[in-house]
Amino acid sequence: MTKFLSVISQLISEDNILVLGHVMPDGDDISSVASLAEGLRRLGKKVRAAIDDQIPWYYKLFFAVDSIESFEQLQDFHPDLIVVVDCSSPDRVGRFQNLLKNSKTIVIDHHETNLMFGDLNFVDVTSASTAQIVYNMNKAMGVVYDPELATTNYLGLATDTGFFKYSNTDANVLKIAAELVELGAKPYFVASVILENKTPQQFKLLAKMIEHMKIEGELVYSWLSYEDYLSLGCNEDDSSGFVSELRSMKDIEVAILFTEFPKGEIHVSFRSKQWLNVSKIASALGGGGHARAAGCSYKNVELEKVIDEVLSLTREAMVGGRHEVG
Ligand code: 5GP
Ligand code: MN
Repeated sequence: MTKFLSVISQLISEDNILVLGHVMPDGDDISSVASLAEGLRRLGKKVRAAIDDQIPWYYKLFFAVDSIESFEQLQDFHPDLIVVVDCSSPDRVGRFQNLLKNSKTIVIDHHETNLMFGDLNFVDVTSASTAQIVYNMNKAMGVVYDPELATTNYLGLATDTGFFKYSNTDANVLKIAAELVELGAKPYFVASVILENKTPQQFKLLAKMIEHMKIEGELVYSWLSYEDYLSLGCNEDDSSGFVSELRSMKDIEVAILFTEFPKGEIHVSFRSKQWLNVSKIASALGGGGHARAAGCSYKNVELEKVIDEVLSLTREAMVGGRHEVG
């Protein structure tokens, strides 16, 4: 039996299921959690869904996202099966990590840095998004789609491909996007909610990032400190997507954004254009991701220290790395 069918048969045979996503959730993660949980509910199962972090307000405009609960709300639930989506390592589920040790776990993901930490792992690195794997699974199980579910599921395909423009955009993701649109998904709604909802404060935060920006040959980097967020009345979600602005610069191969929120907690976002495999750098620092988009996180450190460490590793990786398309 193929891995895909093994996952389907496990999902079909269990009744009491918890679907988990990752901390600092993005569109693909939220879409995958909500779409899989809703799909399983439509098959008559008892399903709960959770993410151990805040969900940015605009994702709550999508159907089924309000069914995603917090760590605290899940305290008394004892699932027979946990399905972890879009997570390359067990720490990505936050405080749910301990629960994974005592339960049967399926991992559904598309990160090449996946540690295969489930009892059953379906990791398709050729998939542009996890949400399209979820769609294929829902379809194989006979889940009935309406325009609401189709739109929620389409969200992940759109956001993980940068609205069908990143290097992971291929015929497969476009075909599944077309199927979802045929089922009633609304591309314009998704694009306007995600891309056209920036607050004036976010523009000021973007200006701050540009003010701090430094260029070193083919490397561009910038940072936002906790004080920057506080002084503008912003939180960490407000800088989502900013690193792509850095990568959009001419003649740049690598863009790195350091964000500190709250004090001492630093997230590093890496993006590359053509040849540097940034997932290798992020993995070496305890994080993970894809060749062209990766990240890692630190706790209890000074921003300057993180910047120094990450930059020296990146400069090292860039020397001679040009020949090694990854
Ligand atoms: P972002 O820079 O947008 O936070 O993340 C880019 C990619 O790297 C995403 O696929 C995300 O899942 C992954 N990623 C970001 N931060 C981490 C991390 O701390 N650990 C792991 N394993 N992956 C991460
Ligand atoms: Mn993803």
